[in-house]
Amino acid sequence: MAVEYKYDVVIVGLGPAGSSLAYLLKDTGLKVAGLDIADFNRVWGKPCGDAIGKGHFLETGLPLPKGEAMMQVVNAVDIYSPSEEVKIRLSEPEGGFMIDRNKYGLQLLEEAQKSGVDVYLKTHALSPIIENGRLVGVYAKRHGEDGDVNVKFYSKIIVDATGSGGAIKRKLPSSWPVVEPLKPTDSAVAYRKIVELDYDIEEPDVIRIYINADIAPGGYWWLFPKGRRIANIGIGVQRGRGYPHPRHLYEKYLDKRPDTGRVVRLLNEAGALLPTRRPANTIVWDNFVSIGDNAYTVNPVHGGGMGYAMTAAMYAARGIEKAFEKGDYSVETLWDINLGYMRSTGAKQAGLDILRIYLQTLTNEEVEWAMRNGLANVDNLVEASTQGEIKRLNLTLLEKAKVLARLLGRPTKLMELLTVAEYMSKVKKLYYEYPERPDGLPRWVDRVETLYREYKARLGIDW
Ligand SMILES: Cc1cc2nc3c(=O)[nH]c(=O)nc-3n(C[C@H](O)[C@H](O)[C@H](O)COP(=O)(O)OP(=O)(O)OC[C@H]3O[C@@H](n4cnc5c(N)ncnc54)[C@H](O)[C@@H]3O)c2cc1C
Repeated sequence: MAVEYKYDVVIVGLGPAGSSLAYLLKDTGLKVAGLDIADFNRVWGKPCGDAIGKGHFLETGLPLPKGEAMMQVVNAVDIYSPSEEVKIRLSEPEGGFMIDRNKYGLQLLEEAQKSGVDVYLKTHALSPIIENGRLVGVYAKRHGEDGDVNVKFYSKIIVDATGSGGAIKRKLPSSWPVVEPLKPTDSAVAYRKIVELDYDIEEPDVIRIYINADIAPGGYWWLFPKGRRIANIGIGVQRGRGYPHPRHLYEKYLDKRPDTGRVVRLLNEAGALLPTRRPANTIVWDNFVSIGDNAYTVNPVHGGGMGYAMTAAMYAARGIEKAFEKGDYSVETLWDINLGYMRSTGAKQAGLDILRIYLQTLTNEEVEWAMRNGLANVDNLVEASTQGEIKRLNLTLLEKAKVLARLLGRPTKLMELLTVAEYMSKVKKLYYEYPERPDGLPRWVDRVETLYREYKARLGIDW
């Protein structure tokens, strides 16, 4: 026999997306449940680089990581060329943190629980409950000391925050537009170790990104210090193009390097999949909301997804509150969540998706050339990585003339870069024009897909 619970909102998955939403809904007076297959020690347990910008906390109002959850302040990012002879330092005024994900996740959940959110850990969501064509709840199995208990969670709104696995979303009727499978080439597999090194890391407040298509094809590898001796080191590789698994690449290259290979102690190692594309076409449907990796709300260029999972949770919280004020949980009311996300963060991410696709075509030689010649100068990179658009080249006239002269030496690259800039701007515009209502979605999706087809054809990309 199954136990039955009734809630206003059931959040499935309590990683960065789900627990942020639980926290943001905690004082709304709604009856909220959050469930996760993980136990206490594995909350936010997905392997990660653990780096997050401070801006995400300021934007969403989520508490800054403190105590044991805050492991290292980050003041800058160094990006290395394939030869490692060229280094570009990006420093953002707000900076960021290296966190202990489990500790931070627990802090959020504790606060949510104190305000009345019911948290069910060791609870495996199995499938959606659909009655008369409407989503009304979730079947789950709770693992307890006395055995497993079947549970039915009934709810007006169900939120899938189970990451790229999509425990609920992928089992919804495929005719619902919110079901939009992830293409392998729009995702990456990343593998990382957390290690204690036998030397002091210089400048532990600087995280390092290395672009090298031999070590990290279609991605990059990183070294993110967590204090002077502990580092999170990993490799992300584009899927769907026959590249080796990053674990093999780690063994082949990073285990043997004098900096990353000098390990005294291995603290943790794991790999996982991550989406690296523009946000899903819609992240809501009747009685349903999808946030975080589940909704592909990530930065397609660097793969960071924790902060954007929080942003998606913020828009979801606002939209859910509004739905309860109106007593209407249909896609029409929940659409505000799409409008909020797509026309701001989503537009930037779509621009970055266009850039990501281009970057994944470049060889080591081309990246080296671009970085040596100042084409990827700090202004361009900061602008592109935060705004999703190469809009303004913040260069003096003389510098512009030099850059142009270098590009004229490689006319094909000049044309490609102009195409990239043009389509970044076009896709952003499309996202700003995200349809006001759900009935405008099919036509909008058609425009986005046509734009991507044109773009890839112009660059000769067949994946
Ligand atoms: C190796 C690697 C490095 C990364 N580095 C960074 C980085 O440095 N910075 C950054 O911002 N992002 C990084 N990312 C991306 C980041 O980890 C994700 O974007 C982020 O974790 C997404 O949060 P989420 O809550 O959407 O999903 P997840 O973190 O995947 O959380 C999903 C939750 O759902 C639960 N769940 C799944 N299925 C079920 C089920 N059936 N029933 C109940 N519960 C379920 C899981 O236990 C989990 O707790 C990295 C990813 C990888 C793989």
